[in-house]
Amino acid sequence: MLDIEEIYRKAGAYLEGHFLLSSGKHSQFYLQSAKVLEDPKTAELLATELAEMIRKSGIEIDTVCSPALGGILAGYELARALGARFIFTERVEKVMTLRRGFEVKPGEKILICEDIITTGGSALEAAKAVEALGGEVVAYAALANRGFCKRAGSDKEAKPECKLPEEIPFFALDDFEFEIYDPEECPLCAEGTTAYKPGSRGN
Ligand code: ZN
Repeated sequence: MLDIEEIYRKAGAYLEGHFLLSSGKHSQFYLQSAKVLEDPKTAELLATELAEMIRKSGIEIDTVCSPALGGILAGYELARALGARFIFTERVEKVMTLRRGFEVKPGEKILICEDIITTGGSALEAAKAVEALGGEVVAYAALANRGFCKRAGSDKEAKPECKLPEEIPFFALDDFEFEIYDPEECPLCAEGTTAYKPGSRGN
C-alpha cells in the first residue's frame, strides 16, 4: 500500500494556512494535488494503484471523465492505467459542460475522477453532464478522500455533507480527515486572519 499522506507531505502538497475552499468553507489545511502530480512518475504510481483497486471490483469502465481543472491530471493517468478513454467537463457560465467535440454514447460506462473528493460537488456536476447525454456513471474515484464520503472498502460511513450518490461505488487510495468550517464558525477567522484561495498566493 502506498502512504498517500507521506507522498503529499514530501511533495510539499500538504499545505497549512487559512484556506477558502471552492465550496465556500474554510480550512486550516489544503491538499495541493498539482504539486504531487508534477512528477509524472508519481502520478503513474498513484493511478496504477487506483486502477488496480477498480479492476478488482469487477466494474467495467469505458471512459474516465474529470471535472476541469483539478481532476484532469489524475483522471488522464487513471484512464491510461485502465486502458479507457478520457474526457473532461468544464464550467461554462457556472454550468458543468462537455465541450471540445467530446461525445458520450448512450449506455457508455463512465467513471468520474477527481484529484481529491471533498463533498463531491464538482464530481456530481460532471456526472450530471455526462448522464444528460445518455452516459451511465458506474463509479467515482479520487486519489484521496477528504473523509466526507464513504470510499469503497472502508467501514467509515458518509457524512451528511457528502453529495455523491450512496449506491455508486467511490474508490480512493486513502482518507485525509481534517475539519472544514462555515465562515461564521471558523476559528481561524475568529483569530482575525483572512481566508484565501489556494493558489492565489503562490501556493
Ligand atoms: Zn476562516
